[in-house]
Amino acid sequence: MTLQLLLTASRILTRPGTPAEDGAVLVEGDRILAAGPRAEVAAQAAPDAEKLDFPGATLMPGLFNAHVHLTFDATREMLPNFLASDDAALRAGARERLDRLLRSGVTTVRDLGDRAALGARVRAELDADGVTAPRLLTAGSPLTVPNGHCHFFGGEVADDDAIRTLIDANAAAGADVIKVMASGGQITEGGADMWESQFDVRALRLIVGHAARHGLPVAAHAHGADAIEASVEAGVRTIEHCTWMTGPQRQDRREGVAKRMAAEGIAACSTSSRNWRMLAERMGEDLAKNVYGRLSWLEELGVPLLSGTDAGLPGSVFDDPVGALELYEWLGFGRRRILEIATEDSAAGLGLGDVTGRLAPGLSADVLVVDGDPLKDLSALRDVRLVLARGSRA
Ligand SMILES: [Zn+2]
Repeated sequence: MTLQLLLTASRILTRPGTPAEDGAVLVEGDRILAAGPRAEVAAQAAPDAEKLDFPGATLMPGLFNAHVHLTFDATREMLPNFLASDDAALRAGARERLDRLLRSGVTTVRDLGDRAALGARVRAELDADGVTAPRLLTAGSPLTVPNGHCHFFGGEVADDDAIRTLIDANAAAGADVIKVMASGGQITEGGADMWESQFDVRALRLIVGHAARHGLPVAAHAHGADAIEASVEAGVRTIEHCTWMTGPQRQDRREGVAKRMAAEGIAACSTSSRNWRMLAERMGEDLAKNVYGRLSWLEELGVPLLSGTDAGLPGSVFDDPVGALELYEWLGFGRRRILEIATEDSAAGLGLGDVTGRLAPGLSADVLVVDGDPLKDLSALRDVRLVLARGSRA
């Protein structure tokens, strides 16, 4: 018989939109048995259930980070450090970073690019060692063109056969999602600029179709407006960055494309870390509002948003989810919406809406206990009292 765990606190957000005073969550094994008003939930607990009470605290679902790179160390030298490290060192670093994510309240993580299926190997190691860790979805080696964006992850594909072979290999190695570098990016010398496409819509369709044969969704890295449009046309599930660039300091937000994303449930991941504040100061208020304002615009058009920070890139640390979420507050999003994006919306966008992202019977016991009330002040999320990841205590 698994011992039950009854958590009680001054308030509960079974979902951010339904706050209630005096709540409880009853957990058995890795599942939530009940969540809601304290008296109702406590009445269902077995007499020998372990009880933990958190006066003044809030019970809520664990947070998401839908875009990280666990094999990058978030320093300025992250790329040379990555290139100079052997697989064992990268796996050790990834384990340490997953632990940071967990302790900061993140219970679901999506890694969108590493080499040699290291993420999947780390996941298997953690399972075998019985170590508490966030749920980890991994992409393995992202598809890119020869010498293209992030070619050092080992995902260069020169033709259709190579595309199919790499997708097969990623799937066999345990990938949960196929990542394609639809446009150029910032951290790779040479190759396409950020706003230039690396794959045309025909190749992207082939990628989406072949990934679907393995039951896998496709995440497209796309800064360029053309790359975003082609990716949406091809049927990817998420657009990473989604900056609508057409040149240096130029963007072209395409309303028709965004409306199609909204209609088809194609989510956008901002990939903004706590660096946004420094970047905004450097850019100046007007330019910053224009660059980050794409998120408000996507929200108005009904495009699902995912919380993800590109953790691992310089300054994008693994243990400050709040610093990243504060961008949305600066843009004028309400705190309820911000918490929804960080929990249930990200779950739905990653196809995990029936698994986690809310506190409800039958869902995974991914529970965060923070001091204070994050609906009144987001920084309450910094005061983590307890994290349960699939029922297991951090
Ligand atoms: Zn990334």
